[in-house]
Amino acid sequence: MTAQQPRKRIALVAHDARKADLIAWIGANIATLDGNAFWATGTTGQKVRAAHPTLDVTPLKSGPLGGDQQIGAMIAEGRIDLLVFFVDPMTAQPHDVDVKALTRLATLYNIPMACNEATADMIVSSSHFASGYIPRKASFTDYETRTV
Ligand code: PGA
Repeated sequence: MTAQQPRKRIALVAHDARKADLIAWIGANIATLDGNAFWATGTTGQKVRAAHPTLDVTPLKSGPLGGDQQIGAMIAEGRIDLLVFFVDPMTAQPHDVDVKALTRLATLYNIPMACNEATADMIVSSSHFASGYIPRKASFTDYETRTV
């Protein structure tokens, strides 16, 4: 991260089979990621902190215990700029509804979301990542003013 680069608020989640991949991905991009602010589901956060102690990571609850929903709430409150969520597509998750809810909220609020390494690479190497790019704010006026 450069001095001019605005500090981004980044949420990290990795399913168990993808935690090592996320830690390796962070290591490969540490120069870009260091200096930003991170929140993570509990186990992911602990592992990331242990592997990359220079990162400013706040662990939340473990995903299946509500951590995905905590990140979802932060997105709804406008407190997250990027979600990096390394998903394991080969294993049924007991908290699948929470996973869906989190990815739905990131979609709804127009938050950049990487569910695999290639997308995460594209995002952190984008000129938008290095600049003060602000995504278009989703408008819910039609929904909020609907007749019921
Ligand atoms: P964990 O949760 O980081 O606490 O393992 C991740 C998840 O939502 O599966």
